[in-house]
Amino acid sequence: MRGAKVAVVGAGVVGLSTAVCIAETLPGCSVTLLADKFSPGTTSDGAAGILYVEQFPDIPLERQRCWFRDTFDHLLAIAQSRHAPDAGVLLNSGVQIFREPPANKRPYWWDIVLGFRFLSERELRRFPEHTFGQAFTTIKCECSSYLPWLQHRFTKAGGKVEQKKVSSLEELSSDYHVIVNCSGLGSKELVGDCGLVPVRGQVLKVDAPWLKHFIRQEGGKSYIYPGSGYVTVGGTRQEGDWRLAVDPGDTEAILERCTRLEPSLCRGRVLGQWVGLRPSRRNPRVERAGQRLGGGRGAHVVHNYGHGGYGVSLAWGTAVDATGLVRSCLQEMHPRAKL
Ligand SMILES: Cc1cc2nc3c(=O)[nH]c(=O)nc-3n(C[C@H](O)[C@H](O)[C@H](O)COP(=O)(O)OP(=O)(O)OC[C@H]3O[C@@H](n4cnc5c(N)ncnc54)[C@H](O)[C@@H]3O)c2cc1C
Repeated sequence: MRGAKVAVVGAGVVGLSTAVCIAETLPGCSVTLLADKFSPGTTSDGAAGILYVEQFPDIPLERQRCWFRDTFDHLLAIAQSRHAPDAGVLLNSGVQIFREPPANKRPYWWDIVLGFRFLSERELRRFPEHTFGQAFTTIKCECSSYLPWLQHRFTKAGGKVEQKKVSSLEELSSDYHVIVNCSGLGSKELVGDCGLVPVRGQVLKVDAPWLKHFIRQEGGKSYIYPGSGYVTVGGTRQEGDWRLAVDPGDTEAILERCTRLEPSLCRGRVLGQWVGLRPSRRNPRVERAGQRLGGGRGAHVVHNYGHGGYGVSLAWGTAVDATGLVRSCLQEMHPRAKL
């Protein structure tokens, strides 16, 4: 639909992916990205950025598979292109280890990542407290590079960017046909979502360039993720904890746990520390709102938030999904328009 105006609220990895996807897929639309914080000030900027996901309880597995597969394939193409270093997208191999074998030894994404296999007994000897492990190659998407790269891609596709705190979606209703809410934890206030909770994560950035492979312990309590400039060492998962300050007790516990998994970490130099709040929900919310704003004649709303600890892993897939929902809103408004 020529002249259709779409607003995307939020410039983290979810909002930027959604804005790019809409601008590139629905070229007749004018897309504006609105956010109070941009890179490097978003939660997404500090994420380890490893593509890995756990299963959500109430969303059909096939839809979850699509989200992860679309994200993986999109980023794999970037990792294998000349854009990889600018976009901060790289392949990363490593292991996930378990004290006891999980009920499901093959996660639903085993055939989406590359080279998935179980660890041999010989490989497991390195992790004495663990009896089961998986090895695979996934992607590390470093958002401190990826977000500026996406933003450039967005403006190149004709997108506009505005720095603004949105107090209510209604205030945008008269200026846009569709509003896409990608405000992460901000949705707690912006749309009054009581099901959204912060899950606090603290990580260390460590200079240890000899480490090339990731190690993740079941449940993601401890992890070591080598990247292009430093190794991300974590972590914590503190539900309902809003503290953004670094906790020295957490630092000590993280180093103690991770050094047990990788003894050479004690030789690494801590370059910095970071705390972020995962926008967690029982399930991510990717759907059209039941009603248009302003008593039924105002803008349509599409939600895309609540990705918890897996926003980088699902951003492109949920952006594709949200773009389909935007298209359906516009088609409903103008049934004969070509999109
Ligand atoms: C320690 C840690 C490690 C992590 N590691 C990984 C990992 O390895 N892999 C993975 O997939 N995920 C990981 N995550 C999770 C990932 O960071 C999040 O899922 C992701 O950042 C969520 O992205 P988002 O775009 O929804 O939110 P955000 O990045 O928080 O962006 C929200 C945007 O909305 C804007 N906004 C909010 N409210 C308003 C408003 N009222 N008006 C205007 N703008 C507004 C904000 O300014 C911001 O631009 C990790 C998280 C943490 C904390």
